[in-house]
Amino acid sequence: MLNLQVFTFNALQENTYVLWDDTKEAVIIDPGCYTKEEQEELKDFIEDQGLIVVKLLNTHAHVDHVLGNAFVKRTYHVPYFLHPLDLPILKSVVVRAPSYRFFNYEEAEPDAWLEEGTNVTFGNTILEVLHVPGHAPGHVAFVNREYNLCIGGDVLFQGSIGRWDFPGCNFDDLISSIKNKLFKLNDEVQVFPGHGPSTTIGREKQYNPYVGANGQYA
Ligand SMILES: [Zn+2]
Ligand SMILES: [Zn+2]
Repeated sequence: MLNLQVFTFNALQENTYVLWDDTKEAVIIDPGCYTKEEQEELKDFIEDQGLIVVKLLNTHAHVDHVLGNAFVKRTYHVPYFLHPLDLPILKSVVVRAPSYRFFNYEEAEPDAWLEEGTNVTFGNTILEVLHVPGHAPGHVAFVNREYNLCIGGDVLFQGSIGRWDFPGCNFDDLISSIKNKLFKLNDEVQVFPGHGPSTTIGREKQYNPYVGANGQYA
């Protein structure tokens, strides 16, 4: 079995995911926990489930997705994986965080690099890394083919797509990432995004107002 738990953390309502399998090995993806309470909530869950956290993964390095990185690294002593093209964004967070009223952001250094076509493993589980730039230059999605699951970050949302108006964004790349990477997955694949509820590839292919069959950028 592949299990998933979602937490919605910080003022930007970011989805933090914990994935684990029968071995109890787990990865934490995009820990947005910022307050003591949010950190405790994540830690208590992991303790209650008896999980062994083995890796920290980021889909991209925007402030709302990296707020809990230092806490996770310190608490579980695990390596932190990021795509190298998002390193400049990660480095800029310390300067930008106060403008989002995150005054206590603590920096964490990546320990390993994510790359298209490589896998991240934990327990008996394989996550494929897809490079899906546009919302951020080093944005990745994590795909598990066996369970038709995709942790997609801020690329494709239920009824929407990622913003393309931040520094480092590229609209053409964003549309191409969705059409040429995510939409090539099975229709049944369930996408768990960085914000809001989950959706499926099939549903967004059909109904998404931007990239769906009758969408603005179809
Ligand atoms: Zn983002
Ligand atoms: Zn976000």
